[in-house]
Amino acid sequence: MDKTRNSKLGNRYLIVLIVAIIFMGCKDDPKPEVIEEEIAVLEEPIETYEFGFKLEDYIVKRDTIRKGDTFGVILDRNHVGYPKIFNIAEKAKDTFDIRRSLQVGKPYTLLCAKDSLETAKCFIYQPNLEEYVVINFQDSIQAYKSRKPIKYVEKTATGVITNNISETLDEQGLSPRLAYKMADEIYAWTIDFRRLQKGDRFKVIYTDKYIDDTIYTGVHNIKAAYFEHNHEPFYAFEFETDSVKGIIDYFNEEAKNLRRAFLKAPVKFKRISSRYNLKRRIAVYGYKVRPHRGTDFAASIGTPIMATANGTVTKSSYTGGNGNYVKIRHNATYETQYLHMKKRNVKVGQFVKQGDVIGWVGMTGNTGGPHVCYRFWKNGKQVDPFKQKLPEAKPISDSLKVKYLDFIKPIKYELDNILFKPVILDEDLPEQTIIKQANS
Ligand SMILES: [Zn+2]
Repeated sequence: MDKTRNSKLGNRYLIVLIVAIIFMGCKDDPKPEVIEEEIAVLEEPIETYEFGFKLEDYIVKRDTIRKGDTFGVILDRNHVGYPKIFNIAEKAKDTFDIRRSLQVGKPYTLLCAKDSLETAKCFIYQPNLEEYVVINFQDSIQAYKSRKPIKYVEKTATGVITNNISETLDEQGLSPRLAYKMADEIYAWTIDFRRLQKGDRFKVIYTDKYIDDTIYTGVHNIKAAYFEHNHEPFYAFEFETDSVKGIIDYFNEEAKNLRRAFLKAPVKFKRISSRYNLKRRIAVYGYKVRPHRGTDFAASIGTPIMATANGTVTKSSYTGGNGNYVKIRHNATYETQYLHMKKRNVKVGQFVKQGDVIGWVGMTGNTGGPHVCYRFWKNGKQVDPFKQKLPEAKPISDSLKVKYLDFIKPIKYELDNILFKPVILDEDLPEQTIIKQANS
C-alpha cells in the first residue's frame, strides 16, 4: 500500500548500534580503539488511514467484485445476516443503489471486526480510481460518496531529436503522451512531427496527475511548450478562453491561435493510406492515370469519424461508389466529404461542430479495405487539404488578449530559463540501440 508513509513509521524500538572504529595513527600500537554507543529511538506507532478510516482498527479484506457477487452475497459471506443486509441496502439506496451498481472486476474493501468471526463493519466500493462509496454499518448506517485526493505535480522536460520524438522521450523515461499531445493537440498545424530534423529540440512545462499521492495516472496537461524546428522557435501556451464552457486552446507568444479552423484528420490514431494525387496510376486499371482527389485514412471498422470543422450537413446518403457518405458545407469557401462509412450519424440540414461524430469507419461502396476517404473542396474545386493554408481558428478577443499576454509572462520567463541538457554525442551511445517502429 502506502510504502512511503509506512516506512517513516514503526512502533518498535530501534536499537541503533553505532560502532565507530577509529584507528589511532600510532605506529607503536596497531590495535584500533573501539567506541561503542547505544541509541534508543522511540518511533510513533503505525497509523494508516485510507478512505478516512484508521486501518489498524480493523481486519482489512480487499477483493474485486466477481461474477455472481452481490452486496448481499458478499456481506453474508462476512457474517452479516439477511435482515440487516436488507436494512443497509434500503438506507443506502438514495446515495448508492448497491443492488444494481456493483460491476464485475471493480475493487472493494471490507473493514471487519478484529474478533474471531471477523464480521464485516464497513463496505467500500471503488467504481473508478478516483471515487469511492462508503457504506458504514458498524453503529448506525451511513452511506456516502467520496473522492481520493488528487495531486498535480508540475514538471519540466527538455529533449533534442536525434531520430524521432518517441526515442528522445523514451531515452529519458518520459511519457509518450507528451509526444502525442505536442504532435496532435498543440503543434498539429505548425510542425509535422513525421518530418522532424535532427537537432530539433523542445522544452515543456507539464503536469503529472496522481491519485492519493501514489497512483500515477499519466500526463495531465501541457502548460507551455517551446519547440525549435529547423532553428525556428514555436511557443505554445495553454489558455482557457471560456471558463464556463471550459474551452482551452494553445496560443503563441503573440496570442495567435495555433489551431486551425479544420482538424488535420477526421479520425484519431490514423494512418494515411493514400494521399491526394492527380497522377495516381493503379494496376487494376491497367496503370492508367486515375487521379485520387481524396486523402484516405486507414482505420479499423467502427472508428468514429469527426467533422473536421463547424458546418451544416448538405448530404447524408448512399451511392454505389461512395457507400455511406456525408458532405458538410463549412462556409462560402470550404466543403468536406467523408466516404465509405459503416453508418452515418447525421441528417441533411443538421449543424455540426468540429470534432462531432458524423459516422463510423466502414468499407461500404467501392473500397478495398476499411478507411475513410476524406475530400476537401475550396470554392467548388477539390484540393489537397495538406497543401492549403487553412484559416486560423477563432482568434482571441481583444479584451482577452491583454489578459493572455499578462498570463503568459511568468510562464514564458520560466520556459526561457529551462536549460537544455547537454547533447549526448553519437559515440557516447551504446552500439545496440532499440529501433522503434514509428507509429506513422
Ligand atoms: Zn479515397
